[in-house]
Amino acid sequence: AFDQRGGGASAAARAGAIGVLVRSLTHALDTLPHTGSLRYKADIPRIPAAAISTVDASALSQASKTVTSPLTVRMRMNCVDLGTAEQGNVIGEWRGSERPDEIITLGGHLDSWDIGEGAHDDGSGVVHTLEALRALKAVGYTPRRTMRFVLFINEENGNRGGKKYAQVAAEEHLAGLRHVAAMESDAGGFVPRGVRMDALDSGVEMVRSWASTLEPYNLHYFGRGGSGVDIGPLKELEPRPLLMGLVPDGQRYFDLHHSSQDVWENVHKRELELGAATCASMLLMLDRNLPAD
Ligand SMILES: [Zn+2]
Repeated sequence: AFDQRGGGASAAARAGAIGVLVRSLTHALDTLPHTGSLRYKADIPRIPAAAISTVDASALSQASKTVTSPLTVRMRMNCVDLGTAEQGNVIGEWRGSERPDEIITLGGHLDSWDIGEGAHDDGSGVVHTLEALRALKAVGYTPRRTMRFVLFINEENGNRGGKKYAQVAAEEHLAGLRHVAAMESDAGGFVPRGVRMDALDSGVEMVRSWASTLEPYNLHYFGRGGSGVDIGPLKELEPRPLLMGLVPDGQRYFDLHHSSQDVWENVHKRELELGAATCASMLLMLDRNLPAD
């Protein structure tokens, strides 16, 4: 479904369509549209595109097969492109006591789709980021390395915040600062299961060696894969930082994702706290265990 949402408008326009309705990207059979980004291809007419609910998509599909007279769909849309405005990432820095020139980043993104509140996507990541800092301070932790807590802008619509952060990081590298690790929370505020790593073998093995420490907290997933959109561009740095993304249970994420149901009433406080505790624990483990080279 992702390719239909992202590329459906241009594919349909190429075939002569004047508008396109996309079945929402969700596991749920519901009556809510789930929105998201699309990319128009150059040199193909930019036709209107809208997501419709899975229930409505099924009804429409059924009607197209059973109704003998021509089907008419009226689309009335009120969205406008307001252009761009200047915004900034919000960055809190906690200076390291022993290796202040090595940076570990934790972040989530501030922007969200206006159809809901963006509570899971990515209000939860923002809370995880702030709460991890509070928790580490509350237990009296003194970071060896510098920790940065970053609330990124524009993840949903171009990733300009993440790209800018990586651009500045590259400049910092030249100035002697080193981004050694980064973690992102952008998969919801559900009960955490582990982390997904985008890292060199040595980094992956190091994190997997913590399994017995983390298992009592039900953290058991330590797979490889994408870390997060915002921190992803940091992987171009040399030497490559250890990147990881929080992996919460994903079974219900797409029930709410990019819909009017992504509101705080649908975030479970205890599960949200467990995600924050996982982020704090990973920061601490990284700070203590990253090789001092
Ligand atoms: Zn997100």
